[in-house]
Amino acid sequence: MYCCESCGIEAPLASVSFTKNIGMFVVRQEETVAGTFCKTCIRQYYKDYQTANLLGGWWGTISMIITPVYFFQNMGVWRGVKNMPEVPHTASRPFLNEQLWEHLVEFQPLIEQLFHDGTPPRRMVQILSAESGVTPGTADLFLRQVSRQLHQQRLQQNMQNRQQRPRKQPPRAPQLPGGKQLKLPARRPPAS
Ligand SMILES: [Zn+2]
Repeated sequence: MYCCESCGIEAPLASVSFTKNIGMFVVRQEETVAGTFCKTCIRQYYKDYQTANLLGGWWGTISMIITPVYFFQNMGVWRGVKNMPEVPHTASRPFLNEQLWEHLVEFQPLIEQLFHDGTPPRRMVQILSAESGVTPGTADLFLRQVSRQLHQQRLQQNMQNRQQRPRKQPPRAPQLPGGKQLKLPARRPPAS
């Protein structure tokens, strides 16, 4: 995961959970937020949840006991992450434009090799990001689109092969958006 689950921005992340308790004499309401978030979102959740605990957490017998537990638990969670890096000013949601797409398509031989070797997705993202200079989030977005296309092409190819079995046709190479053809090598390319 490269992006905040709350705001979608690619930034340093941490997994946290906060709980708030709203006591209403007889009824008690509890809410937990859990996920992998950027520091801006974590800070906001922490503030919101602690405010709720302070203002609405005390009205009821069980609430009077349980609210301090959550309050200090939340505080511990925040202490654990408060030294994490802030979201950089240049951070954004990962995106692909024509320019980035064209740049990344240049790494086709590398991508072919990674696909062919069965490289785990996370490792592929790391390698492509390091080689191309795009952020891991953008590399991930690109590889997802490429593998979705490859998958669709493969399905279409299977259908065609089934329909046209008597006439043996050479299999079509999967195509990348932008017109370039992604040809999977028959043999493993030599290690570079
Ligand atoms: Zn966020």
